[in-house]
Amino acid sequence: ITADSAKSFFRRNAFVLFTIAAVLLGMELVATLGTTYKCGEKFYFSFPGELLMRMLQMLVLPLIVSSLITGMASLDGRASGKMGMRAVVYYMVTTIIAVFIGILMVIIIHPGKGSKDKLHREGRIEQVQTTDAFMDLVRNMFPPNLVEACFKQIPVPENSTGILENITHALGTVSEVLTFEEVIPIPGSANGVNALGLVVFSMCFGLVIGSMKQKGRALREFFNCLNEAIMRLVAIIIWYAPVGIMFLIAGKILEMDDLAVMGGQLGMYTLTVIVGLLIHALCILPLLYFIVTHRNPWVFIAGLLQALITALGTSSSSATLPITFRCLEENNGVDRRITRFVLPVGATINMDGTALYEALAAIFIAQVNNYELDFGQIITISITATAASIGAAGIPQAGLVTMVIVLTSVGLPTEDITLIIAVDWFLDRLRTTTNVLGDSLGAGIVEHLSRHELDAQDCELVALKRRKL
Ligand code: ASP
Repeated sequence: ITADSAKSFFRRNAFVLFTIAAVLLGMELVATLGTTYKCGEKFYFSFPGELLMRMLQMLVLPLIVSSLITGMASLDGRASGKMGMRAVVYYMVTTIIAVFIGILMVIIIHPGKGSKDKLHREGRIEQVQTTDAFMDLVRNMFPPNLVEACFKQIPVPENSTGILENITHALGTVSEVLTFEEVIPIPGSANGVNALGLVVFSMCFGLVIGSMKQKGRALREFFNCLNEAIMRLVAIIIWYAPVGIMFLIAGKILEMDDLAVMGGQLGMYTLTVIVGLLIHALCILPLLYFIVTHRNPWVFIAGLLQALITALGTSSSSATLPITFRCLEENNGVDRRITRFVLPVGATINMDGTALYEALAAIFIAQVNNYELDFGQIITISITATAASIGAAGIPQAGLVTMVIVLTSVGLPTEDITLIIAVDWFLDRLRTTTNVLGDSLGAGIVEHLSRHELDAQDCELVALKRRKL
């Protein structure tokens, strides 16, 4: 290894190296400060991390809107339709595999074994119609008010049925237990954006201004410029990311003094989720990438390290989105027409980690209650877990809230979410990392499959330029 090659390696990987160093330093800080820190002081300790979350979240909304609009406007209708189909097929296939792995793991390992009390299904909770959950999902796709959609996650229609009350009820239960949230507000949880609604609107809007030829030019340029500007801001914020991540992780670990709860069933449950996520993230997804592209998935994943560590630190795939964009475009050279289009949609609806976890956790709760699920109920859990992962926002612990949909669909008690809350802060980070990895590999796969369309468009552009000259 020559000095020159070491220097160039350092230059290329400076951010990742800084971030890894920061995480290690954060752990070291925890080890030295852990016992002496008092509750109130922990609040100050998390402050630099909270700032990073805020900076990233500040960029997410304009980034999603501008990248989707420019992405859709830069593709012609047919090409975007084909790419859209490929992306949706990829999202569905990987989510279904994830749910399957989750169910398989929880059945094989059986972490809830050893419970004595049997759950009497009748009278414990009212069963909620699965159709209600789907209707809410679809309702969210069409926000009646775009400005409101920028800060409101679930529209509450006046004649709302079952599911919304159940979510509110569960939120009540969850937030009662999550008392630490009151001390250290989980950034983002109060800031639910109806991303799904914005995604749908931006895609349609982009398609329309793309088809408007000369008339739509001003708008296309405006959103293009907005997108560029946001990405430049990302390039600045990225320098602060290692510091923020260090404090986010250290602050969180400092806060947890009840690691003893990890024993017994909960410990086994945690282990089961970890094994499931690892199988999906490190075996299935890379294998799929390799089968489709014939390229080395590990090289691709190495280029994503910064985004994966950010996901681990922030537990929010939306907040990580700006960094994911940068990693894919700068490190892995994925075409911007693809990232702009595939990433925001993926970060909103494609959550493999969340789907895996929701199915697994629901069956775990059934096991703890000694409640035998029949085959039909397992199928119901897989369908609702998929819907719940699509509906979950890319913010910390969103999956815990949408779990209500899964539990109520088979008549399991929603209050039992409290059983798994103690470890959720940790599992949330792992599933968020899996979600980000799934979106990124998806972008690589869709780019590979769409080479023809992209090449054809490049040729057209070149021809057009020549004609103008
Ligand atoms: N925190 C996850 C994400 O942002 C969502 C979840 O809670 O599962 O991707």
